[in-house]
Amino acid sequence: MTAYDYDVVIVGSGPAGIGAATALSRAGVKNIVVFDRETEIGGIPRHTHHASFGLLVFKRPLKGPKYIRALIKRCPDVQFQTSTTVTALHKDGIIEIATPDGMETIRARHIILATGARETPRHGRLTSGLRPQGVMTTGALQQFVYGAKLRPFKRAVIVGTELVSFSALWTLRSAGIKPVAMIEENPRITAYRPATLFARLLRVPIHYNSQITDISGISELREIRIGTHSGQHRTIACDGVIFSGKFVGDNNIARASHLTESSTTQIPKVDQNWISSDPKVSIIGNAVHPADMGDQCYIEGVSAGQTVAKILQDGPDAGGIIEITHGKGIKMATPNILRPRQGESTSIDISLHVAAPYTGTIVVKFEDEVIYAKSKRCMPARRITLKNVTLNVTDSDPAHHIHISLADI
Ligand SMILES: Cc1cc2nc3c(=O)[nH]c(=O)nc-3n(C[C@H](O)[C@H](O)[C@H](O)COP(=O)(O)OP(=O)(O)OC[C@H]3O[C@@H](n4cnc5c(N)ncnc54)[C@H](O)[C@@H]3O)c2cc1C
Repeated sequence: MTAYDYDVVIVGSGPAGIGAATALSRAGVKNIVVFDRETEIGGIPRHTHHASFGLLVFKRPLKGPKYIRALIKRCPDVQFQTSTTVTALHKDGIIEIATPDGMETIRARHIILATGARETPRHGRLTSGLRPQGVMTTGALQQFVYGAKLRPFKRAVIVGTELVSFSALWTLRSAGIKPVAMIEENPRITAYRPATLFARLLRVPIHYNSQITDISGISELREIRIGTHSGQHRTIACDGVIFSGKFVGDNNIARASHLTESSTTQIPKVDQNWISSDPKVSIIGNAVHPADMGDQCYIEGVSAGQTVAKILQDGPDAGGIIEITHGKGIKMATPNILRPRQGESTSIDISLHVAAPYTGTIVVKFEDEVIYAKSKRCMPARRITLKNVTLNVTDSDPAHHIHISLADI
C-alpha cells in the first residue's frame, strides 16, 4: 500500500486539535481532516459555558462555545468530520474509524492524537456505597445542563476542590441546583485559595480532610456519609454527587497501539516537539498533560502543527531517544523523551505536575551533571514550567538519561 488518504489526520477537535489544524493549514498543507466522536466540534469548551477561556489567545475571557467559534474562524479551510470515532492506530499511519455508515481503514502521512483528558469517575476512586442515579462527573453535568438543558438533580455535593470543581459549582448555580457541600480529602483546597470566597459567597461549606464513606439510595440518591481519618462522620442529604477533577489523559487509542508509554505514569512517550515513539504520530494537549487550560492546549497544538508541516516537507529528524524520568513527588512531566538534534545543543521547556504541595528546588540532571536548578512553589493540579532547560548532548545514546527531582524531599 503506498497511497495516502490524507496528509494529516487529527483525532479530536478540542483546542489542541484545532490549533494543530490551523498551523498545518496556514503552512499550506491541504489534505487534512479532523475527526471527532461527538456530534459537535470543540471538545470540552463546547459544553463549558463560563468565560474561562481565551485570555492568552484572544486577550479577553470568552465562554467555551464562543471561544471555539473564534478558533474555528482561524482555519476556514479545514475539514471536520464529527460522529467519527477512531478505534485503532497501527504502524505506517494506518487508523481504523467507526462512523454511522460503518467501519473504515484509512492511511495518513502523519497522525496527531488530540484526544483530551477526562475526570476520574466514581469507580476509579473506589467510593463505597450503593449505585443510584445522580452520580456523575463535571463534564457529564455540563452536558446535561448546557447541552441537553436538563436539571439532573436538585441538591448536589461536589467532590474535589480543583478549578474544575468550582466550575461545577458555577454550573449548578446556573441550573438552579442547590450545591450543599464540597468535599476535599486534603487540609486545603487544590485550586487557588481565593476560590474559597466563591463557595463562601454561595454559602457552600467545604469539608476538609474528608472522603465519602457511603452513598445511600436504590433508584434515587438519598444521602451520603462522609468521614475523616480522625473518625468523625457526618450525613449530608442530597440527590446528586459530582466527582470533579483528578484528570487522566484519554489515551485509549495510544495505549492499545504500538506506541510506547512511560512505565511510571502510563502516559504515552512524547518528545519536545510532541512526536511519540513513532515518528509518524504526534500526541498533544491534555491527552499528555492532564489537565491544562484550553489556551495552553491551543498554543501547543499550533506549535505541534508547525512541526508536522516541517516534517512533511523535510522528513523526520533521524536519531534516537533519550528518556526523561522523574523522582518522588512528581506526578508527571512532559516531554518524557528527548530527541536531540544531531550536532546541536537542545533547549526545551519541561512542564510538570506535583503530587502534593511543594516549595523548594527542582533539579534536572543529565547523567550526574545538574543542567537546571530553580526554586519553585508548586501546587497539585497546576502546571509548573521549567523554561529553557539546555542540554549540550548531540547524540542520542540510549544509555543517556535525564532525571527531574524535587531536591528538598
Ligand atoms: C469538565 C471540564 C471543564 C473544564 N473547564 C475548563 C475551563 O473552564 N477553562 C479551561 O481553560 N479549561 C477547562 N478544562 C480543561 C480542558 O480540558 C481544556 O480547556 C481543553 O479543552 C483541552 O483541550 P484538548 O484539545 O486537549 O482536549 P478536549 O477539549 O478534551 O478535546 C478532545 C476531543 O477529542 C475527542 N476524542 C477523544 N477520543 C476520540 C476518538 N477515539 N475518536 C474521535 N474523537 C475523539 C473528544 O470527543 C473531544 O472532542 C475543563 C476540563 C473539563 C473536563
